[in-house]
Amino acid sequence: MPPSENNERILGGVGVSPGVAIGTVYVVDRRMGRVPEYMITAEDVAAERDRLGDAVAGAREQLRQLREQAGRLSGEAAEEFGYLLDAHLHMLTDSRLLRQVHNLIERKRINAEAALVSSLDQIAAEFRALSDPYMAARMQDIREVGMRLLRNLMQAPSAGFDHVAEGTIVIAEEVTPADAALMDPSRIAGFGAALGGAEGHTAIMARSLGLPAVLGVSGLLAAVRSGDRVIVDGSEGRIIVNPGEAMLADAMRRQRALALETAALARLRDQPATTVDGVSVSLKVNMELPLELDAAKAVGAAGVGLLRTEFMFMNRAEPPDETEQYETLRQLVEGMAGSPLTVRTIDVGGDKPDCAVGVDFEAGANPALGLRAIRLSLRAKKLFDTQLRAILRASAHGPVRILLPMITSLDEIRTVRDRLTDLKRELEKSGVAVADPLPPLGAMIEVPAAALSADSLSRAADFFAIGTNDLTMYTLAIDRANEQVAHLYDPMNPAVLRLVQFAAEAGRRAGIPVSVCGEVAGDERFTAFLLGLGLRELSMVPQSLPRIKRRIRHLNIRDAVTLAEHVMALADSRQIASTLDAFNRELDARIAAE
Ligand code: PEP
Ligand code: MG
Repeated sequence: MPPSENNERILGGVGVSPGVAIGTVYVVDRRMGRVPEYMITAEDVAAERDRLGDAVAGAREQLRQLREQAGRLSGEAAEEFGYLLDAHLHMLTDSRLLRQVHNLIERKRINAEAALVSSLDQIAAEFRALSDPYMAARMQDIREVGMRLLRNLMQAPSAGFDHVAEGTIVIAEEVTPADAALMDPSRIAGFGAALGGAEGHTAIMARSLGLPAVLGVSGLLAAVRSGDRVIVDGSEGRIIVNPGEAMLADAMRRQRALALETAALARLRDQPATTVDGVSVSLKVNMELPLELDAAKAVGAAGVGLLRTEFMFMNRAEPPDETEQYETLRQLVEGMAGSPLTVRTIDVGGDKPDCAVGVDFEAGANPALGLRAIRLSLRAKKLFDTQLRAILRASAHGPVRILLPMITSLDEIRTVRDRLTDLKRELEKSGVAVADPLPPLGAMIEVPAAALSADSLSRAADFFAIGTNDLTMYTLAIDRANEQVAHLYDPMNPAVLRLVQFAAEAGRRAGIPVSVCGEVAGDERFTAFLLGLGLRELSMVPQSLPRIKRRIRHLNIRDAVTLAEHVMALADSRQIASTLDAFNRELDARIAAE
């Protein structure tokens, strides 16, 4: 039956990844005391029953240990406790509770936790109806056993999203970058969360995977339940719960329009990214996960301008060893078939904390200002050497560049270059092939200090990659992943743009390549301005590349330079925004008239 229009609820948030997804909700709720409930597919029934089996086995082992401890109690207490534990053990061997849970998993296709809670509720209701004190005490035992099983089930490591049905929409209090890394776009249609801002790493992951997403939606978990139908409108920044007919029809119409536009843009794949007056621009992709290699090729990227290597360290207990990292990188280098792969060394900390790095480090009161990125790498020598060796080995298979995150001083770059030289020598001595000379070593310009000292950094760096995401955050003192200040996060602030210009010019004077790999590189509002500043290399999520290319192919570089000069003379981001918008409206009209 179609949902009634009356149930429809529209919740606003920050649209962090464009597109429209329509699907069935799976709520991931990690708050204490909340039990996850979701539907499973027919194929997953056996795995879910196994999960229950593991929880039962765990419970039996816990009871066995308790029995051992009970043996050390004084006589009567030991006897009493022993009876109780025996009764519990018995329930875990064969009981109505377990039979019913298995039955519900199979018949209703719900997860083990949900089946367990439902069975406990039903048995409790029946016992209550008997109003017998003996039965009430028995119910207490059943409940205790049930709670033990529930705890075991909920402590089991996350199964990711492999069990959910195709077209599922994930709704959570918070979706971490590690959660997003587990979302296979062939299964997950989109996601929404109560926390999170526009430029956090989770938002970037959503764009990379092409999943419509809305973050910072207050009251989200109170408004939806697993099984509800929702629309995630990442373009408009809203989630519609139980949409009525009119809303659904509109969402489907927009989905069709987007599909048509994507198909039209696909025709640009092999066209050069060259302006009307013949200036070529190198359009590369940022890569979060190896599965984006296909997308990079599909959009005709000129290389990978930023490989965020954190994916190798996520959703695992131990960091990958050198061989594993080398194999992953080698496949990517070979996959790029001669186009450069820019490998950024691990950027853990800040808003990317969920990584297994094999060292304990304190996030501190200000994680973004703490032991993050290059600072951690220079401290955790074994971790860093392993990564550098793997990159050096992969560099023997094709063009590789090495990029260092969160650089603030010349010394950091020089220390890494010395270390790379030593590691190269060691590898060669043991007969392992490495690129010769060393791969180019670049610095992220993402901290105001780096932008302001770009002149001196250019003495040690072979290239710059301007990271406007962090540059905006650190310049404006706005947490890029915090929904409460998301409205203040503004890369158009003149302070940010001046730092971008400063770094771009320093790079040009030093004769080294400068790219922009922050999210503004894939934002059409900025394209003309960035080209006008003299930038000729942009790296972005694959989904954005065709649109940026189309824009560049309609631009005249002289107009872009005039625009940039005008913008740099403005003192206020609102004026900057309206100047860019006016320019872009004209450009849009030219594109539409094509
Ligand atoms: C940036 O800060 O702009 C950047 C590209 O790096 P990340 O988003 O991974 O921090
Ligand atoms: Mg950054």
